[in-house]
Amino acid sequence: MQTYRLYINGEWVDTGTRYEVRNPANGEVIAECAVAGEAELNAAVDAAARAFPDWAARSYEERGELLRAVAQGIKARYEAFALAETQETGRCLRETMAHDIPATIAVFEYFAGVAPATLGETIPVPGMYLNYTRREPYGVVGAITPWNFPLWLAAIKIAPALAVGNTMVLKPAPTTPITALMLAEVMHQAGIPAGVFNVLTDPTPATLGDLLTRHPKVRKISFTGSTAVGVRVMQNAATHIAPVSLELGGKSPFIVFADADFDRALAHALLANYFAQGQMCTAATRIFVERPIYERFRDAFVARAQRLQIGDPSDPTTEFATLHKREQLEKTEFYVRTALEEGAKLLAGGRRLTEPPFDKGFYFAPTVLEEVQPTMRVACDEIFGPVAMLMPFEGEAEAVRLANSTDYGLAAGVWTQDIGKALRVAHQIEAGKVWVNCYNMIPPQAPYGGYKLSGFGRELGLHCLLDLYTQVKNVQVDLSPDYFEWFG
Ligand code: NAD
Repeated sequence: MQTYRLYINGEWVDTGTRYEVRNPANGEVIAECAVAGEAELNAAVDAAARAFPDWAARSYEERGELLRAVAQGIKARYEAFALAETQETGRCLRETMAHDIPATIAVFEYFAGVAPATLGETIPVPGMYLNYTRREPYGVVGAITPWNFPLWLAAIKIAPALAVGNTMVLKPAPTTPITALMLAEVMHQAGIPAGVFNVLTDPTPATLGDLLTRHPKVRKISFTGSTAVGVRVMQNAATHIAPVSLELGGKSPFIVFADADFDRALAHALLANYFAQGQMCTAATRIFVERPIYERFRDAFVARAQRLQIGDPSDPTTEFATLHKREQLEKTEFYVRTALEEGAKLLAGGRRLTEPPFDKGFYFAPTVLEEVQPTMRVACDEIFGPVAMLMPFEGEAEAVRLANSTDYGLAAGVWTQDIGKALRVAHQIEAGKVWVNCYNMIPPQAPYGGYKLSGFGRELGLHCLLDLYTQVKNVQVDLSPDYFEWFG
């Protein structure tokens, strides 16, 4: 078991009070973390504000070099990061090894090199003037992350924000602070200057987050989490007019046309529902299958869902593990029960796994429902659990209508070999990310974010540098030999 302190102004700070972090798969205590209060929050924001002028004045190349060193530092501790992420989230080691760690490294490497592309522009204006824009960092960014992909979701805020000269105070989710603190160690060793990056932890969901998002010296807030908390974050930010970006929940559609590559669509539908035990913002829980292949797809999906190897997440062969917390287990149970009461039919799973060794965790069997109506609660609300719903449809128009029958708009999948149809449907779907014949691909080069209740602002790519982490300054210079006297 490790003990972690807060990371403030390049130093490890103890507060005398600690809380326990547990492995959701078995309840074992895996770390003790310091409890930050208002004093530590103020110290971290002050440190970030003091570090800002020097950090912003450094060249892109210098900051990029340090971010590249962070990527190297993560690489050097690859397995340790993957194991820590598995232990704190309950997600399978084969996922954290194959996805979270390489994706995090790629994010640091990409933003180490791309920041100089945040070009300004010269603007022709009437008269003898030079008019141009500069992209300037905001200052202190307050970053808040959820528990499900703690390292990568922190990285996609840290790397771009720092690359363009901001400094940061990060508040990870209370149950998954370990990888953020390990990352602080790596950043410290890589030579990121004191105060540029700070991490605060505490066991309560809202206390630190409220303080951070209301702090007047926090000039920009970057939030990833649930829609309900996103509303609160926006309200807090309004108290000092801090711009906010919100990456929130989802209820993504996965549309399979009859001419799709059946096996690929099936494999990705399973992944889109059971990766991370369905605890993904992009989870494609609403699977719409065109009528001619509906029964075949349904039967194959159910058979594969029932074959998933369920076990201890740190066993590299495990394909499906525990949910992250009891509330999540109870919520998943509630939605399945409600769906059945409302007339849905259970095809697989639908129950807790309580036999040893699952009794020590929050295991819920991979679940498949059909005969779900778009108006049922299970089809409308984000569940954040392993509950897939299969629904038949007929034709493009119905696919689009069903896909858009949600208040969320994060992502969507479209499966067909007819590229014209794929693009027609992709363009009509109300979501910030549409994958055609693939799913859950989130390269650092491309923008990522939602429509509707899934939030606004785009992370990743040049978009995040331009829209999230820099603000525009316009400079107008008088070049005229004449001057203009207004008074007298
Ligand atoms: P959550 O909203 O409960 O918590 C997210 C973070 O907000 C945590 O760090 C929490 O401590 C903090 N928080 C809670 N109350 C706060 C407050 N009043 N002020 C400021 N911060 C506060 O979410 P979660 O359970 O950790 O994660 C699951 C949710 O995150 C799901 O809804 C999921 O869809 C969403 N998510 C979205 C994306 C995306 O990219 N769109 C990615 C991952 C997860």
